[in-house]
Amino acid sequence: MAAGRGRGGGGRGMGGSGRGMGGPPQTAGGGPPTKCVCPQCGYEAPKKRGLPCRNMKCPKCGTPLVGE
Ligand SMILES: [Zn+2]
Repeated sequence: MAAGRGRGGGGRGMGGSGRGMGGPPQTAGGGPPTKCVCPQCGYEAPKKRGLPCRNMKCPKCGTPLVGE
């Protein structure tokens, strides 16, 4: 009779030590656009913070402005 009980298994996982380093990369230079431009006639308007350029329209031709 064979009595085989052989596998002693210890449960030792690898302790994962943290991956903690590294924050968000800093954007170098540039930044959010500061003005909105009419793609149609070139009219420029100062960008309002929190207000997408598309929400503004060119007073001259009524085209939605775009951010630069
Ligand atoms: Zn325009």
